[in-house]
Amino acid sequence: MPLKQYEIATIDGDGIGPEVCQATVAVLREACGADLLNFSHHDGGADHYARTGHVLPPDTFAACKTAHAILHGAAGMPGITYADGTEVGNDLHLQLRFKLDLYANVRPVRLWKGVRSPLRDWQAGQIDYVIVRENTEGLYASRGGGINLRGEVCTDTLVVTRKGVERVARFSFELSRKRQGAPRDGKRRMTVCDKANILRSYAFFRAVCDEVAQEYGDVEIDYAYVDAMTVHLVKRPDYYDVIVAENMFGDIISDLGAATIGGMGLSPSAELGDHHGLFQGAHGSAPDIAGQDLASPLATILSGALMLRWLGDRHDDTRLVSAADRVEQAVEQVLAEGDAVPRDLGGQAGCRAMTAAVIRRLATERQDTGIAETAT
Ligand code: ATP
Repeated sequence: MPLKQYEIATIDGDGIGPEVCQATVAVLREACGADLLNFSHHDGGADHYARTGHVLPPDTFAACKTAHAILHGAAGMPGITYADGTEVGNDLHLQLRFKLDLYANVRPVRLWKGVRSPLRDWQAGQIDYVIVRENTEGLYASRGGGINLRGEVCTDTLVVTRKGVERVARFSFELSRKRQGAPRDGKRRMTVCDKANILRSYAFFRAVCDEVAQEYGDVEIDYAYVDAMTVHLVKRPDYYDVIVAENMFGDIISDLGAATIGGMGLSPSAELGDHHGLFQGAHGSAPDIAGQDLASPLATILSGALMLRWLGDRHDDTRLVSAADRVEQAVEQVLAEGDAVPRDLGGQAGCRAMTAAVIRRLATERQDTGIAETAT
């Protein structure tokens, strides 16, 4: 059922987090009108930890839990670490991931018009797949729980459960059903990326995916070992539709996928569970360029579009789904027409100029179609 208004909890975080998050809020307000989304701002991140001892303060967590969706900039500062040497900032989204059970990390890899891929023979439309990274178990489940024995031997354990694989596999098949298939042949395809030839945990991951595949005769199941996958994503990216992978493998191959379509500055991310969704760009907090108006907000803006579509689907609200389309079209027009080109794509436009360019396109489209009345 569509709601009158949706509560969005935002956490700016560290480094470029505040600029890209606030840029996205401005774009989403333009796309949805002033009243459809209500944004509330909350503390959290490495700097906040340094000041207060909390990376995810209890009131921020409470707000995230009750909100309809969570929008996050980025968190993490290189010097702010725990005693074991691991970075504090990552704990913001890791805690949210585990506490809110956000088991599917959705990372679309799409080559936009106007962006030159380092894979020079590929055009917009030919790279368009989604990596679904299992987000709650795998090797990263051991974070904070590994053993360091007298400074001599360290172990971290890879955890794979039937429930964990079943739900992320089912999610991936369902996602494929909503898409148009792989650019190469239009086939709906769910590729299981693992290392089943070496480790039992990955063989189990694959076997459970195979079992779930029985429910989805309309989607082709396909397999790739992760080392081969790094080659395939460079040589034949058009073959892929949806790829599911264990947590660490998904993390690694999604950076590779991002590089093929113009970099992390263009790569959105959605972390989804059955009840909650967290949206942020795939990049980190980039402290080297923070506060200088150098960051590209596009990854966070595109994550905002994923948020609108996810909310729209959940609440059967076409206003949100069409706002998501408009945000993506505005980004596509800005890139295709070169209204503004971000620095990480070889241009000069900073965060403010990129945001203004996207908002201008949205405003023009609003005037052209008279969409304002229906969106607000
Ligand atoms: P994390 O481990 O938290 O993902 P990271 O160590 O991989 O972070 P990032 O913070 O993503 O690193 O930054 C990597 C490089 O990419 C840096 O040089 C940074 O300036 C650049 N970068 C990251 N995000 C953006 C962005 N939105 N716009 C422009 N450059 C960016």
